[in-house]
Amino acid sequence: MTDPARAKDESRGTGALSASLATVAGVGPKRLEALRSRGLATFADALLHLPYRYEDLRRHDRVADLREGMTAVVEGTLHDLKARAMRGMSWRRMTTATLKDATGAGIRVAWFNLRGDGLMPVGEPLLIYGRVTAAANRTLELLHPEVHRLKTSAPPAIRPLYSLPPTLPQRLFATIAGQALTRAAHEDLGAIPGELRVATGLSDFTAALAALHQPAADADPVALEAHSSPAHQALALDEMFTFQLALARERARGRRRAGAVISDDGRLGPEMMAALPFTLTAAQTRAISEIAADLGAASPMNRILIGDVGSGKTVVAFAAALRTVHAGWQAVMMAPTELLAEQHFRNFNRLCGPLGVTSALLTARLTGAERARILRALQRGDLAVAFGTHALFQDDVRVGRLGLAIIDEQHRFGVFDRARLLALGAEANVLLMTATPIPRSLALALLRNLDVSILDELPPGRTPITTQLYAEEDLPAVDELVRAALRRGERVYYVLPLIEGEEADSASVTAAAKRLAGLLGSDGVGVLHGRLRPAEKDRVMRRFRDGELGVLVATTVVEVGVDVPEATLMVIVAAERYGLAQLHQLRGRVGRGAAASRCCLVVSRGTTDGARARLAALAATASGNAVAELDLRTRGPGDLFGTRQTGALPLRFGHFIRDLRVIEQAGDLAEEWLRRDPGLASPASAKAVAAINDLMALGFSLGDIG
Ligand code: ADP
Ligand code: MG
Repeated sequence: MTDPARAKDESRGTGALSASLATVAGVGPKRLEALRSRGLATFADALLHLPYRYEDLRRHDRVADLREGMTAVVEGTLHDLKARAMRGMSWRRMTTATLKDATGAGIRVAWFNLRGDGLMPVGEPLLIYGRVTAAANRTLELLHPEVHRLKTSAPPAIRPLYSLPPTLPQRLFATIAGQALTRAAHEDLGAIPGELRVATGLSDFTAALAALHQPAADADPVALEAHSSPAHQALALDEMFTFQLALARERARGRRRAGAVISDDGRLGPEMMAALPFTLTAAQTRAISEIAADLGAASPMNRILIGDVGSGKTVVAFAAALRTVHAGWQAVMMAPTELLAEQHFRNFNRLCGPLGVTSALLTARLTGAERARILRALQRGDLAVAFGTHALFQDDVRVGRLGLAIIDEQHRFGVFDRARLLALGAEANVLLMTATPIPRSLALALLRNLDVSILDELPPGRTPITTQLYAEEDLPAVDELVRAALRRGERVYYVLPLIEGEEADSASVTAAAKRLAGLLGSDGVGVLHGRLRPAEKDRVMRRFRDGELGVLVATTVVEVGVDVPEATLMVIVAAERYGLAQLHQLRGRVGRGAAASRCCLVVSRGTTDGARARLAALAATASGNAVAELDLRTRGPGDLFGTRQTGALPLRFGHFIRDLRVIEQAGDLAEEWLRRDPGLASPASAKAVAAINDLMALGFSLGDIG
């Protein structure tokens, strides 16, 4: 066994790199504290703190061409150097001079509190670079430019710029980074084992960092800034390698497990299909047969069904459950909310009850003798299918012959405990379902642990949903849409981010319900949120479904899975507070019937232009895939993987959309390495194992995906 703590030390360098930045000349206690506030305490931290911009110093400007706001690079000489105390501020000194280029044109340069200004080289050839600003009298000047003496050395060609605390000069950090690189020179910091690196001709991790901190004279600053330079790719590959190796290891462990073999029956399936009020889409038929093939195989199924909201995942799951039952096994289906679990139970019972399939709903309300009876039946194998939430599959639940476990809306579970699931039945085949729209290419590259089925087709007869943005001031216009929908006998979801708030706070369910009841009469307005007792939630939801309530004022509890075809209007207040994928899920609650549906995104006052633009982009697209791309670009696919923290995978270098090829290559490398070192126990794997442990420590759980 490798000791993870020791392996970690090895990977990050025990000595040279873990030293404090306090040893750098020019870094006193104040600057040390400023650095630490940005997470920069050691040379290792500095090494990984990459520039965010690059200045091309190969381009030289003429003084005559300088404009306010630009970063100027001028070759010339300094004249008329003067230093004086600033009026009324004896502690502040200003140094000024005139910079003249080869044409003889001049511009004023100024520094405050310049150290050692007596040493400023006057009259000799210099390269000076800095920002052009306009003084009070509109004349241009260069404020605090950097000066490079051309006599002593060639100037840097491309200069990195770091995001730094204001008190820390760029030049000082460049020095720190340089020292860190020297300290790293003899260490292999990457997770990809050296021999694999060499065999596949990959560049070295430290060399890649050097190329970013100290770009070569012929480097492409545009590629550097766009993170598409070969050095970035190398770092991203290393990072993705860790991730893929962790997955590959899990996958190898999974292969050693025996799965229930569920062979074709050819009877119940057609009977259920006959009972369906619709015909399956081609995508549903394809998914059903992909799943059937997995179920019939000896190794356990590990499949994710990805389909946009409303694409009809449920019936695919039911078909799989039915097949399982008929082969003599049991199935469980977990949903993230009781409401949804119950909806599944009811639908399944309606469809399959007549075929003689027994099923039960395990809810928190189920207690005492009734619960005991159901648990006994489950354990003995007398009950074919059980529905419930994750929380209900507790320690006391045992399933006698669990052949299939279905997890609906998997992304909503957060960290999902596969071990607990398998404790229910070790041979279970697993079917995950999610509406998280993840592009197929990414799913395949990233989710090698899982087989992927995609429902890329909506059932026919759906009318597209019109999405529009409204300002808070336009609420009366939205109210008018609500009234019109009710007049047509249709139903309305009204979603808000808070349950309770100040009376004046329009973002709370209670305030909005009160306002709408005043407007529409209290009879038709219902309230639904997570703090209601389950029985109350059910009652409200049922009344809404049955049309007793016209408006359901709710939190995002309505986001998940609930199906009311008569609902045609979705109003989302303070829409800027939600992620795009979540908004897309929410609007998927309408547009399920034949009537035209609408989604109103009400945007709060003071919302940034950027946030508004994101919402406008959502309004302009109906495609789940396009939404996924928009969302992934900014947040990463954390929701899908259920990371505990902000929802994004902790990627420092890589990017899920941009680096698709890197992800694939990393997956291949990981598989290759696992073939060479199946137990990851060799010293060459130590850094990779340490990196995996770091990843896990960040709250990433492999149980989530594979
Ligand atoms: P989701 O993929 O979001 O879970 P559901 O399974 O809840 O979608 O299906 C949404 C609605 O579409 C349900 O009312 C369901 O009965 C209906 N439906 C599913 N498949 C079809 C189909 N092939 N034709 C018509 N309606 C369908
Ligand atoms: Mg669903």
